[in-house]
Amino acid sequence: MSTTHPYGDLLAFTLTSPEAIPPSLTLEAGIEATGVAPGVAILRPTRPHQEAFILLSAGIHGNETAPVEVLNRIVADLCDGRLPLDVTVMVMFGNPAALVAGRRYLDYDMNRLFMGRHAGQLQAVEARRAAQLEEMARAFFTQADAGARRWHYDLHTAIRGSVFEQFGIYPFPDGRPHDRSELAWLAEAGIGTVLLHSQPSATFSYFTSHHFGAHAFTLELGKARPFGQNDLPRFAGIDRALRRRLAGLSSTAGIQPQLYRAKYDLIKETEAFTLYLADDVENFTALPDGYLIAEDVGMRYVAHGGQERILFPNPKVACGLRAGIVVEPATL
Ligand SMILES: [Zn+2]
Repeated sequence: MSTTHPYGDLLAFTLTSPEAIPPSLTLEAGIEATGVAPGVAILRPTRPHQEAFILLSAGIHGNETAPVEVLNRIVADLCDGRLPLDVTVMVMFGNPAALVAGRRYLDYDMNRLFMGRHAGQLQAVEARRAAQLEEMARAFFTQADAGARRWHYDLHTAIRGSVFEQFGIYPFPDGRPHDRSELAWLAEAGIGTVLLHSQPSATFSYFTSHHFGAHAFTLELGKARPFGQNDLPRFAGIDRALRRRLAGLSSTAGIQPQLYRAKYDLIKETEAFTLYLADDVENFTALPDGYLIAEDVGMRYVAHGGQERILFPNPKVACGLRAGIVVEPATL
């Protein structure tokens, strides 16, 4: 089938016209495509389908291009009839202006602006966009019946390497139990490591988990590279798993990922804060028992037990902020 509509390359449409809303069309593939905002569209089958609502977001950070390319190909395959759709899906390219610029963000890190935090950063273009994404997620998930299933996968890559190349972050579940079948789905998608968050955060996945009860995950899928330089076969696991979920196929796997939880945060209280790890240390690097991780005025952070690992180290943050997380193995 030939491609004569922008859904054959929604990414090119978005990069060419980052302020244009994709058109609303009924496609020959039996899909009703509804443009919602720049970089955002809802696809639903015109025939009867499952009561399931799936939000797929990528490009919340504009330099993280591979997940955007993965979603772009999925949209094209759905809309040109190469991939069956049995659910309602909303695809979001999170920050079109930053995607065009090839930058993580223009004014402010968007994945710190959900849960209403955008109201405190109104000068940032990302604040307006985060508010818009929240509203669109709300409209999408609240159209679902109470019994409908809801999922949100927020796809990222990272500048920093990782000992475990692909890992997920399970946002704080607000007292609900962690869902083992969702964890098994992640393992089947090739995401062998999951960090269990133990407190609320201002991320997009916590927003949809908290407000709409979505099975929501932030997925870190490997190295961030510019458009055209991505090694897309490295994303085959998540690509295949998402395609199965969109087609309405259930998971078969029984394996569970390796779980970690945050033990404590390294807080940079003063400019004297020193982190004793290399600038390019990988996420999930093991911290030997007794290792001096960091020091600040009157404070020494020493590794204990030999099972701890470092996550998201960043000594360049402003004083008062988190400069890294020490994590440890967890079980459910
Ligand atoms: Zn990111």
